[in-house]
Amino acid sequence: MISVQFIGVSGSRVGPGEETACYVVNGSILIDTGWNASVSMQETGIRPTDIDTLFITHCHQDHILGLPGLFFANSQRKRVRPDAPDLQIYGPLDLPLSIEGARALLRANQYPQCVPDHRVTLIYPGESVDLGDVRVDVGRAFHPLDARAYRFTETSTGGSVVFTGDTAYHEYLPVFAKGCDVLVHEASSTPDTELSARQRVLHSTPQDAARVASEAEAGELVLVHTASENRQAVLEHARSNFSNVQLGIKGARLEILGPGRTQWIYP
Ligand SMILES: [Zn+2]
Ligand SMILES: [Zn+2]
Repeated sequence: MISVQFIGVSGSRVGPGEETACYVVNGSILIDTGWNASVSMQETGIRPTDIDTLFITHCHQDHILGLPGLFFANSQRKRVRPDAPDLQIYGPLDLPLSIEGARALLRANQYPQCVPDHRVTLIYPGESVDLGDVRVDVGRAFHPLDARAYRFTETSTGGSVVFTGDTAYHEYLPVFAKGCDVLVHEASSTPDTELSARQRVLHSTPQDAARVASEAEAGELVLVHTASENRQAVLEHARSNFSNVQLGIKGARLEILGPGRTQWIYP
């Protein structure tokens, strides 16, 4: 089984009780750090020190603001879990700069105990990472800075989930997501967003997300990264193009039991 805990599903600017892009796979793999992942994940019972692996989709602010907090919360990981491995961090080209920024904010040179032992690895489209029973394939996202999509596959069952990160539609996305059980796709742009703005921000409309789901023949589409005031309209626009779609819900947990078999546990 692959489990996905939805920690944050909001657009880039969050209000009270909200969190932006942030998910935990199988209890120990974090995708993006949102504004405040280390606090938000505790609302679902996950401790920051449970996280052994971090995948960053891209280094826009709403995806990495929580990085210093995650470091600070994880500085206790080997006291809480004596057998805890070093924190492994994977991501795109901007990742080292963001890591250095987080370390500088925490004044790691003066207070090295505030940052856990960690290893940073740049990963590129076409590569994969093996994490025990889960293989993580790396895809490309089309965004104004170097960005990744990730596909998690349980090697024993073949069940899979794809996270697009922030991206505009591009032709390789449905190929990367082909046949996945669940496609977690951003839907930041509304259908009436001006073309000039869409070219600048390179996000997806709900119709774009539905198009990727349809071309990929995904089992289920989950829309995330949507401003709260747009959520219902976004859902309706996507639904007219792909039938099995729903909005990501903060605090919900998705279990992929195997190919074509999913179940949701709502908060
Ligand atoms: Zn974003
Ligand atoms: Zn972005």
